[in-house]
Amino acid sequence: MQRPRSKTTKHANTKERSFAKHTKECDCIVCGQPGPSIVDHALGATFKHNKVHAGHWYLLPLCYSCDKFKSTPNGSTARFIDMTGKRLCDLWGSHIENLKSLKLNGLCDDVDLPPQDVYDSIMDWGR
Ligand SMILES: [Zn+2]
Repeated sequence: MQRPRSKTTKHANTKERSFAKHTKECDCIVCGQPGPSIVDHALGATFKHNKVHAGHWYLLPLCYSCDKFKSTPNGSTARFIDMTGKRLCDLWGSHIENLKSLKLNGLCDDVDLPPQDVYDSIMDWGR
């Protein structure tokens, strides 16, 4: 599942694309609906904080139903946060933990995890 591109932006590099590919295979981070999922750019591909361009790493696997709360025309990030009761960075943190444990268990060994500065930037943003 894929939404049309909303705007042109810097293309994702190899590691970011590998991360996106694995994110797509994950179950919905909100309700657990089995993947493949929609890869949602939590705050858009251009998201940048503390001079770190984190947009291509700030991805959430979402099922169609959960994505609807976030994507336009009927959804919004505020509505989505209301619905999930969680901050985007907490959902993202769980997503990273899931990928880490898959990797530890020898599944999806080839996944690239976010660099520390990206991780810190997203957690510092705190939304
Ligand atoms: Zn869902």
